[in-house]
Amino acid sequence: MTDKLYIFDTTLRDGEQSPGAAMSRDEKIRIAKQLEKLGVDIIEAGFAAASPGDAESIRAIAEVVKDSTVCSLARANERDIRAAGEAIRPAARGRIHTFIATSPIHMEKKLRMQPDQVVEAAVAAVKLALEYTDDVEFSAEDALRSEPEFLCRIFDAVIQAGARTLNVPDTVGYAVPHLTTAFFKRLIEGTPNSDKVIWSAHCHNDLGMAVANSLAAVLGGARQVECTINGLGERAGNAALEEIVMAVRTRRDIFDLETGIDTLQIVPSSKLVSSITGYPVQPNKAIVGANAFAHESGIHQDGVLKHRETYEIMSAESVGWAQNKLTLGKLSGRNAFRSRLQELGILPDSEEALNNAFARFKALADKKREIFDEDIFALIGVVDPAEALERYKLVSLKVVSETGEAPAASLVLNDDGAEKLVQSHGSGPVDATFKAIETLAASGADLQLYSVNAITSGTDSQGEVTVRLARNGKVVNGQGADTDIIVASAKAYLSALNRLVDERERAHPQV
Ligand SMILES: [Zn+2]
Repeated sequence: MTDKLYIFDTTLRDGEQSPGAAMSRDEKIRIAKQLEKLGVDIIEAGFAAASPGDAESIRAIAEVVKDSTVCSLARANERDIRAAGEAIRPAARGRIHTFIATSPIHMEKKLRMQPDQVVEAAVAAVKLALEYTDDVEFSAEDALRSEPEFLCRIFDAVIQAGARTLNVPDTVGYAVPHLTTAFFKRLIEGTPNSDKVIWSAHCHNDLGMAVANSLAAVLGGARQVECTINGLGERAGNAALEEIVMAVRTRRDIFDLETGIDTLQIVPSSKLVSSITGYPVQPNKAIVGANAFAHESGIHQDGVLKHRETYEIMSAESVGWAQNKLTLGKLSGRNAFRSRLQELGILPDSEEALNNAFARFKALADKKREIFDEDIFALIGVVDPAEALERYKLVSLKVVSETGEAPAASLVLNDDGAEKLVQSHGSGPVDATFKAIETLAASGADLQLYSVNAITSGTDSQGEVTVRLARNGKVVNGQGADTDIIVASAKAYLSALNRLVDERERAHPQV
């Protein structure tokens, strides 16, 4: 019989810890619904104790998601576990994921606890979590650098306490595949009642081996993999969900496992996460990169045309890539727009949000003859201006650029309701635009990243701009899309500034 491999997605928790990837409640709900449609078994919706806003987002997701288990992370202390338990209360199926560090370096330097105290805290945490749900997961943080004997001891104790899933994270991305397989085998053999629980891998990509290590863990007996869409995550990221799922599916001869994933939803999920977080997908990224199925070499093209399987181990269609479909145009009405959003799985909840999106669609259709699915993803992916906390808004923009002259930008900005004219010169039109905005905002922020991507092909394509700003350790991404890349740049810069001036604070656990 073919076993099931459980897919645990942590895009909304671990992925969100990427610099500038913080999401609003509504953005998280939109992603959670897409993850449910993708067929993810467990959605880690956040870390409830981080802030009241995080707890509220988890609760909102628990209210709307019915098919996937909704999970909150919690450190092994009473306050965290109660916050997680309250947040998942509305869920049809809710899980609490509690963790504590088990490596000698973390126990000594970070926790300042003796090994016995760590075991005691883990057991107490699992027992408390069981007051809220019978589905409790325990993680041994930095497990891959922990003593196997100690791990077997703490895992034995938490199984007895009632944990159902045991997660063995490579928190720092230090593991290598063949040792990971051996490590899992050793833990599973050395832990009493190990067949009563699901073993789980959670790998970071610091050495580029997160997916390889996750699959190695599966070969060693893991039946849950924790991963993120596009491999999003702090530093080099987490294991990429789409790569794990397609590896298991394409190499069934090796893994002999089923996942519950509807692979046709992989590309739509990737695009949604990319456009909401402002993290573009590199073109040569496996599965979801724009070039992942493009055959440039003439020899390959010939082979593919004659018989696809000569060079393709899986088809582009099987992961949700479709030809750029001309879906809507200037004359499309609200109903056509609405049903396309529904087909793409990105229909907003409220009529008001739909109306706002439709107004943006009409404005775009005035400038661009053909509207593709990619345009619609960008239209919906950007923060709805009606929902966001926006201090600054773009009213109008004029840029003059001429060879031999310094480019000049002149903008009218709405600053908390008051319209203000700002002007500046710069080394280029984008520089002039940003400097003009800063004459008003005076944010003192450091521009860390500026990137422009064409959303579709063609010279009338929309440019999607990402701007990353940093100030006093806070990093934010802003995005803007428009057929005019200077306007898109101004929108992206203002969107980043609006996030920068949003003063809500939150904690970031490392698992
Ligand atoms: Zn992690």
